[in-house]
Amino acid sequence: MDECIFCKIVKGDIPCAQVYADEKIIAFLDIAPISKGHTLIIPKVHYENLWEVPEDLGNDILRAMQKIGNGILKATGAQGLNVVMNNFPAAGQVIPHAHWHLIPRFKGDGLFKIVQGKYDSNDEIMALADKIKNNI
Ligand code: AMP
Ligand code: ZN
Repeated sequence: MDECIFCKIVKGDIPCAQVYADEKIIAFLDIAPISKGHTLIIPKVHYENLWEVPEDLGNDILRAMQKIGNGILKATGAQGLNVVMNNFPAAGQVIPHAHWHLIPRFKGDGLFKIVQGKYDSNDEIMALADKIKNNI
């Protein structure tokens, strides 16, 4: 993956404001932060999206999120933290190297709220739940 920006960061070809690194993972501040302390966690190996990430690495990423998330909360004084992963362009994925956004949140920051839809009819919800269940 020669042209991947995040692979270049892993190799050290592009600088980053690194906050964490281990054998499999690095984390660095987002160059265009949504809030102060907005951090990206990426695997060192190039996987494009959630489904390519191997299970054991998924565990390591979860642990790293907990550790790094703690550091972000302490360092920024944030009262909350969103973890966001964009998969595929329709979901806003711009860089096709799997990554998780850690976004510190402050009371009343008015940034965004993931759950802000309208109530759907019970029949539709139950039918869709069945459809998804049958596709898992
Ligand atoms: P996504 O839309 O989920 O693919 O997010 C890509 C993120 O990478 C955006 O929030 C960008 O601001 C961030 N980004 C792009 N280039 C760099 C870079 N060189 N260093 C740090 N963050 C970057
Ligand atoms: Zn890459």
